[in-house]
Amino acid sequence: MEENKYKKLFQITEKLHSSLDVNTLLGELFVILQEVYPDFSYYLLLSQDTHSHNDLPIIDLDYDSENMTAIHAYVSGNIQFENSIVDNHAILYAPLKGGQGVYGVLQIIAPNTPHFPDHEIEFITLLARCAGSALENAQLYQQSRRAIADLQLINETSHRLNSNLRLTETMTFMSEQIKTSFDAEEVGFFLFSHDQVKVKVLSGSTPFFFTKQARSYIDYIKEKIQKGSGPLFIGDLNLANITSFHSIMAVPMIQRQKLKGFSIIMHQIPYFFSFETFKLLQSLLHHSSLALTNSLLREELEKLVITDHLTKLHSRKFLDEKIQRSMKKDEEGTFILIDIDNFKEINDTYGHQIGDEVLIQLANLIKRIIHGRDIGARWGGEELAIYLPMVPLNTGIALAKSLVEKVSESTNPPITVSCGVSYWNKERLDSYQYLFKRADEALYIAKETGKNKVIIQGDNITVS
Ligand code: GH3
Ligand code: MG
Ligand code: MG
Repeated sequence: MEENKYKKLFQITEKLHSSLDVNTLLGELFVILQEVYPDFSYYLLLSQDTHSHNDLPIIDLDYDSENMTAIHAYVSGNIQFENSIVDNHAILYAPLKGGQGVYGVLQIIAPNTPHFPDHEIEFITLLARCAGSALENAQLYQQSRRAIADLQLINETSHRLNSNLRLTETMTFMSEQIKTSFDAEEVGFFLFSHDQVKVKVLSGSTPFFFTKQARSYIDYIKEKIQKGSGPLFIGDLNLANITSFHSIMAVPMIQRQKLKGFSIIMHQIPYFFSFETFKLLQSLLHHSSLALTNSLLREELEKLVITDHLTKLHSRKFLDEKIQRSMKKDEEGTFILIDIDNFKEINDTYGHQIGDEVLIQLANLIKRIIHGRDIGARWGGEELAIYLPMVPLNTGIALAKSLVEKVSESTNPPITVSCGVSYWNKERLDSYQYLFKRADEALYIAKETGKNKVIIQGDNITVS
């Protein structure tokens, strides 16, 4: 019988060590106990237990627990006994010990005896030792898996961010990463105004942050961050006017020792985020802050500068001003909005750098086909624009047509573009905002109806 039992122990050891999942392992342990000691009852007292174990008899082991014997077994790492003549049972506490520490205590209750049967003690000691080291393996394995996943996330994120994205893209990407990796419901990014009084919600934040209800959260966090509280980890926020979201994490954005803004991550369920998630969020944002700041600076610079540094076309700001002035003093003018077709594919296939080169090639083509007072501009991203002061609509359409025709032979890899054309003259009351809007709508129709074409404002005639 003894021999059989030790054979069994060998099998158990093998079985426990083959499982790298803590839950499965604990399940196995109880199956084994039931097999070997069908008459005993058992509990597992686990310290720092963060898992949920369905129906297993697992109890949290707290230092302030009333069960002093269990605590003693845990702290000393030695087997302890508790005999009760009154209840007529004997209890054994076996610590689950690995090479690096004690993970919990196995409580085994033998009924109808005032003493724990001697011949079982050695077996249980061995079993507990084996379970302890298997548990340690599984926990270390899970920890290292988590650490690897965290590093991968940080690595992938900083890698993507360093590929020179625009601010909105940067923020949208960050927001998506945080939402999927942390199961967050809302993710927001906020920037302080220069006088540090107001905060601006950055695009890329989830839509909730643009609503009125979000205001109380933003103001609450803003105040704390401004007081220099550092990152915030709130498990159950309960303020008079704040009811929906209870779990909140917030991290300040700091650039050259100056507080630039902050981000907020929220979930409705209280205590939803773990402290590890909080730490991961901090390192993720820390690693991304340089890319973020770069995008911010670039956006600010673009607003100041009158030529776009990549394409050497005029900047949007410059174009805006020229059109407004032209609409005041000229008789008429034509506006062409140009968007590269399926540009995302070019970037995805050849990389951002080739994408940039194609953008430059398109800009060069525009420079070749315009002259005189005409203005070629970078509208933003991969959208370019041409404004033709004192040029009638038909001439403008012809120019747009010739651009669409020539573009594929002027670019490598070849691209096509879609154009929306709008026109104004003195006879009609008009505004430059409305001029843009008409071109934008025409461009939208060009995209919707197959791309690689020119569409004209309002009357929607396809020209090419
Ligand atoms: P379509 O306009 O035909 O609907 O498709 P698209 O693929 O062009 O769609 P969308 O306008 O959504 O995507 C624009 C892409 O252009 C996404 C962005 O990464 C890329 N882009 C924007 N600005 C730049 C830039 O300066 N350089 C490069 N390489 N890519 C840019
Ligand atoms: Mg576009
Ligand atoms: Mg496009």
